[in-house]
Order: sequence, then structure tokens, then C-alpha cells
Amino acid sequence: MCGLDDFDSTGAALRIAFNASLCFLANLGRMPVAAPVGLTALRTRLGRPLPDEGTSPEAVILELISNCEGGIVGSATGRFFGWVIGGSIPAAIAADWLTTVWDQNAALHSCGPAAAVVEEVVGEWLKDLLRLPPRASFALTTGCQMAHVTCLAAARHALLGRLGWDVERMGLNGAPPIQILANNQRHGSIERAVRLLGLGTQSIVDVATTREGRIQTTALDEALRNAAIPTIVLLNAGDFHTGAFDGFDTLVPIAHRYDAWVHVDGSFGLWASSSLRHGHLTAGVDTADSWAIDGHKWLNVPFDCGYAFVADSQAHRDALSHRATYLTHHLEARDQIDWNPEWSRRARGFPTYAALRQLGRQGVAEMIERCCRYASILVDEIGALPGVEIMAIPIINQGVLRFLDPRPGASDQDHDRRTDEVIAAVAASGKAFFTGSSWHGRRVMRVSVCNWRTGERDVESAIEAFRTILASKQLPGEH
Ligand SMILES: *Cc1c(COP(=O)(O)O)cnc(C)c1O
Repeated sequence: MCGLDDFDSTGAALRIAFNASLCFLANLGRMPVAAPVGLTALRTRLGRPLPDEGTSPEAVILELISNCEGGIVGSATGRFFGWVIGGSIPAAIAADWLTTVWDQNAALHSCGPAAAVVEEVVGEWLKDLLRLPPRASFALTTGCQMAHVTCLAAARHALLGRLGWDVERMGLNGAPPIQILANNQRHGSIERAVRLLGLGTQSIVDVATTREGRIQTTALDEALRNAAIPTIVLLNAGDFHTGAFDGFDTLVPIAHRYDAWVHVDGSFGLWASSSLRHGHLTAGVDTADSWAIDGHKWLNVPFDCGYAFVADSQAHRDALSHRATYLTHHLEARDQIDWNPEWSRRARGFPTYAALRQLGRQGVAEMIERCCRYASILVDEIGALPGVEIMAIPIINQGVLRFLDPRPGASDQDHDRRTDEVIAAVAASGKAFFTGSSWHGRRVMRVSVCNWRTGERDVESAIEAFRTILASKQLPGEH
């Protein structure tokens, strides 16, 4: 049809990959969710001295497929409820393949005009969908981690610039110290962003939260009164245990009264803005100064996709843009290098563009609402089984459970151990996959629903796995 030679080895390798992909997807309902093959076996299969001679692409791909068999976690299945990991919707997978084949360097419009324009459109669509300020600038990053780095680089520029300090030129040696007041339940990616930007984790001050993880207004007010200027305030849109949202309506105006820059970690939670049912949770979030969000979690695009938004687009551009004589800039086009931390980069706008087109506004909202509904059902139904304690009812798509050791006089340590054993037993069953955490000093199991594929049968089969394991006299590993 397009003149590709049937015997062309690129075509042959791609056809093998295509068929293997279809088989993989067709088998999702049956595959064990935890990877059954262990570290040693994978090293034995895959590890070998670097070969001197090459191999045909077909042979390489066939061998890769067979050697990785059993070492692939079923996070693409609807029965995966660990961490916060989405799947991939069909249009996004297909667009991601084309992104690889087109192999555009999405640093500049001139290296990939369609890629640059697609990113422009995606940025506008996302602001609309997530109800962020229409004039905010944006960047498509590798994930929320680098979206934090991008946003906080803009914050650092703006805050020090107000004091006459040009941080891009003068660095941080001798600069006025920046203080960061942060929700004490924040994600670790905040710490890493602060480290990478040279602000130092010592500059972070914990702000007290409620049990669910919402910042207490009085605690923020007091922290601001005592804080050195300049100040960044870090708020959460979606606590990763409970899905709780900071009270943006109240907290952002307080922070702004102290001239603080407000950054929001909206990794997965900001998607609530797309839903009529859950949108009230993010009220006032649009008044913040910057937002970091993930595409590869709840939008269900393949990995390598986050979004940074900055209200002060000048600060954003000043913090990141670079000009060199050998680069070709189009005067009217948007060059991604002006907004992104990377230089050469993947044209990662294509999968998001495809995902938003496939789902539409309604499809995104339905996916978000469906995941929230299933998170509630899982917490309610597993929580109703004997010996299970509901620790946090989902506010959106995250909840927390705990498993109690049934022996009389069992201690908190016994319950902690029991919780980890139940999580491991469910994973070993291959039927579902959940992950553990420590929360308010106790071992707990998180319930996290982010995959568009998760359906009623997946939820029922997960509940059934717990029913069976809790009814059995002994858990594997118990003596
Ligand atoms: C996953 C997550 C991050 C980090 O996002 P990456 O895409 O993994 O870089 C940040 N914050 C929260 C709340 C998260 O759940």
C-alpha cells in the first residue's frame, strides 16, 4: 500500500512487534498481574557479554519478546491497583508508535513543525480541560517530577528577580534564601526538584495537615508569618494516600497576601477538574502560580509524559529559554526549548493529542469518574470483609485499608505484618495487585484506580481474591 518492501527488515521487525503487541493486549485479562519471573532468571536470560557481531532486527525482537516473558508487570491490565500508574488508551499507544517512527527532535519548530504545533494545541486543550488560566505558559515534560523542576525554576527566577537578583546569571551563591512551605504529606518528587534547583531540602518547612492530608489554614498562616521572604508555598491537589485536596480557595489568597509563589502538585488529582462531579474539589486552584500534572498516570497515555503550567509566562521563559547561533528559530512558532528543561527530546505531544481526541471532554470526565467509583467500591467491599479496617474512604481514586491479625491480643506490629502478608498473598495469586505504604505510623494497603481498562469484572475479581485469601486458615509465609 505504501510501497514498503515485504522483505525489508524494518518491516519484518515491526510486524513481529505488532503481532506480539496484539497478543499481549488480547491476553491482558488472563496474565498474572505481578511479574512471575524473578530477578535472577531475568538476568540469566538477558545478561550476556556485549556481542561483537550484529543480529538481524527480526531475531533481536523475537528474542527480546521471549526473554522478557514473565518479567512484565501487568500494569496495563484492569486488575492493577498499585501506586498511581495508569494504562494506555488505544489512540495514545498508536500515536506513541508513530512518534518513534517519525523520530522528530521536538526541541524546535524547525526540527519538527507538526510536533511543535501539536504541543501548542495540547497545551491549550489541557488548560481548557483542567480550568487553568488561559494565558498560562506550559511545557510537556517527562513526568510530574520534571514539571516540578520546570515550575520551581520559574518560581526561583520570579522571586529572586523581585529582589534584584538575576539567578540565571548569578546562581544561588550569596542569593537571598528562598523558603518553601510545603504540605507535610507531599510527594518525594518535590524534595528532588528542590535538590536539583540548588534550593536545598533544608529550606523546606513542613506545614501541618489534617489526618486526610489537607493543610490546616492556621498552620499555613503561622508559617507564612514566620517565614523568611521570598517564599514558595506547595499545595497538593490529590494526596497520594487519600486523594485529599488542599483548600485552594482559602489558602492561595493567604499565601498571596505574603507575596508567596504558590505551586500545586496536581500529578493525578488535578484531573478532578475535568469532571462535574468532582470539580468542586479543585475550586480556586486556578489562582495559584504554577501547576505540575501527569499525563502518564490518569490520562492513560504511555510513560514519558507530564505537564508544567506557569501563570507568569515571562518568568517561565526567562528561567528556561536558550538561544544559540546554530539554532534556527521560527519567529511566530513556539519552540519547545524555550519552555522545557531538555534540549533534544521526544515529540511527546502526539500521544496526548491522540488521547484527548479519542476521549473528548466527556470521555476524560467519564474515565475519571469511573475510576473514583471503582475505588469506592473496592474500599467498601474489601473493607466489609472480616478483619479489614477502612483507614481512609476515597475522596477521588485513592483509599487506604488495613488488615488485622485475628489472634486475640494481637499488637499493632502484628497488624502491620498481617497487612504486608495479605498484600503479598494477593500479588502472589496473580489476580490483582495492590501496594503497601506506611501511613500515620501504621502499615496500610493503598487502593488506587487509574486505569481506563478497569471494569466491573476486574473489581469483582480483585474483591474475590481478598475474600479467598482472608478465608484461608493460613497465609503463605505464616507459621
Ligand atoms: C507520581 C507522583 C509524582 C511524580 O510524578 P512522575 O510522573 O512520576 O515524575 C508527584 N506527585 C504525586 C502526588 C505523584 O503521585
